[in-house]
Amino acid sequence: MKWRSHISIGKAIADMLDLPPGERKAFLDGIVEPDRHKERVNGPGYSYRVSHHRPRRRVVMLHVWMARRSFLRNNSYLGYRHLGMALHYIQDKSTSKGFLGLSHDRREEELAGLEVPTEAIERGFKKYLSSPEFVSRSLELSKPQKDVHHIMAQACFRSAAVAAAITDLRRPSGLEEKLRSLRRSHRLVHIPLMVGSMAIGFSLSLAWWNAIPLVTAVIISMIVLYRDRPYRQLDRVASWHGLKRH
Ligand SMILES: [Zn+2]
Repeated sequence: MKWRSHISIGKAIADMLDLPPGERKAFLDGIVEPDRHKERVNGPGYSYRVSHHRPRRRVVMLHVWMARRSFLRNNSYLGYRHLGMALHYIQDKSTSKGFLGLSHDRREEELAGLEVPTEAIERGFKKYLSSPEFVSRSLELSKPQKDVHHIMAQACFRSAAVAAAITDLRRPSGLEEKLRSLRRSHRLVHIPLMVGSMAIGFSLSLAWWNAIPLVTAVIISMIVLYRDRPYRQLDRVASWHGLKRH
């Protein structure tokens, strides 16, 4: 997607969020930043360029989390910068490259001439949930489109919904209590059950020289792990709302 398109979608979102000049600049800088400096992901033994049309979810979610944490810490400049970067990838992801990229340039040119549909931006600000699952799902649902109007509508709607989800800092009621009770069963029931069954299974298997106790213990642990899933999901939701140390 061309800079012009990223910027015009960004301006429409900045207007909806009623951003002051400083935050607006940080946001619009962020939204073109991935094209200015090609981002690389580095790790032990690997390094690759981030694809704009097919970015890995992890890379985009990294910016999403950076943005969210910055907002929670009242660092709105950094927050809007990372929000802009995340939206850049969502918008590029909406654009189909076409066969061998042949129709790509013409389409991008045509796209840059389109007006931003305010209706799609407004709809995004209404239809969102402030949770990491919602953002991750929105990313997944941003599929490459061929028709320029579809590209524009999707890029605007998804960008607006994700922007609304990340900047909404209201905490759902009852979250703290729910988290506390799940944490208690995690610590007092699930962890001891797993450690205990593995210890017993391992020592019985060793004593009898028979694999069955150990296999049984592994199965029990997997069931417990499955039952502990709500805790792990809620744990992420708690970090999203700043209820956990990072
Ligand atoms: Zn790009």
